[in-house]
Amino acid sequence: MANICAICDKRPQSGNLVSNANNRVKRWVYPNVHVIRYRLKGQTGVFRDAVCTKCLKAGKSEKVILLIDLTFRDY
Ligand SMILES: [Zn+2]
Repeated sequence: MANICAICDKRPQSGNLVSNANNRVKRWVYPNVHVIRYRLKGQTGVFRDAVCTKCLKAGKSEKVILLIDLTFRDY
């Protein structure tokens, strides 16, 4: 489980945290992904995978059966 959406392939992005003195420190921005059971439109199989909340809200997965777990960040 590496914070990657199974539908749209959204993944963590790296960037810089920039201080007032312009010191730059590496930071990661994680997508809001949740592990759910879902069914894709026009398909019969039910998958259990990490899906981002943008895809959930857009209705790309037809049916959210059970909200199982929050994904955990690996830092
Ligand atoms: Zn997504």
